[in-house]
Amino acid sequence: MAACLRLSTKYQVAGLREVLRKWLKQDFPTSLEGWDAMEPEWVCFESHNSVAFDALNLLREVDLAACLPAAFVLASAPEFSLNLFSGLERVDKSRSMLSPENQAALVIGRDRITNDLMGFLNSWSCASTDCVSPRNCAIGKGEMLQERLTDEWWTYAGHALVPWSDLAKPGQQSYPGFCPACSEEYEWKYLLNRHNIWDRIPTYFGLESWEKLLSESE
Ligand SMILES: [Zn+2]
Repeated sequence: MAACLRLSTKYQVAGLREVLRKWLKQDFPTSLEGWDAMEPEWVCFESHNSVAFDALNLLREVDLAACLPAAFVLASAPEFSLNLFSGLERVDKSRSMLSPENQAALVIGRDRITNDLMGFLNSWSCASTDCVSPRNCAIGKGEMLQERLTDEWWTYAGHALVPWSDLAKPGQQSYPGFCPACSEEYEWKYLLNRHNIWDRIPTYFGLESWEKLLSESE
């Protein structure tokens, strides 16, 4: 993959570059629907210790900017980002490091995303006007925030993109602790905020807007 991308860029093979770009979307989606449909394993790259760092550096090198927002989110996963400044060892024992430019963008972007998400969650009113159990729902919200305020949670920008349905416990439709009215209200607010965060993902990491990135890649 790396060799194909470099060659298609060096020799301006537009057709090949386009094919590769479409293929890469499986690992680096450019829409929230694409993000939700992502495979749990890497598709275009062989999965190894430093895959997210290598991929991000490569995408920056060959200027596939539309793939960069998702690449930054993936590289912020703890298994990679906890070694952001020390690097990760590849199979051949060489060391994979993000460029200083990418390191800075990742840290700043991740902080912006988690701050925005936390501000949003804190801004929720305690309960819906149709709430049937305000006390329980306020406790439920507190528990939800507590669950999310873990060290591991803060290190990964992708947590801001977790679908609402994944927050519910198995077998439950709504988040445990909320009455149906509050659950419904929180769900649509969460849904809206999740879309807003996705729309801003490129700019969090210092990139152009999705609109510009996608128009450049056409
Ligand atoms: Zn309620």
